[in-house]
Amino acid sequence: MTGKRIAKADLPTKICAACGRPFAWRKKWLKVWDEVRYCSDACRRFKRAT
Ligand SMILES: [Zn+2]
Repeated sequence: MTGKRIAKADLPTKICAACGRPFAWRKKWLKVWDEVRYCSDACRRFKRAT
């Protein structure tokens, strides 16, 4: 049991609330993964942009 490396295939994924596509965990979301709902900044801005 040395460390806990995350294999790429084991990365958690979510469905983007804007474009509906699945996206995988990224290191920049390490601390906010629970709050992440969009795959990109563009999608985050897209939310209810009407
Ligand atoms: Zn998206």
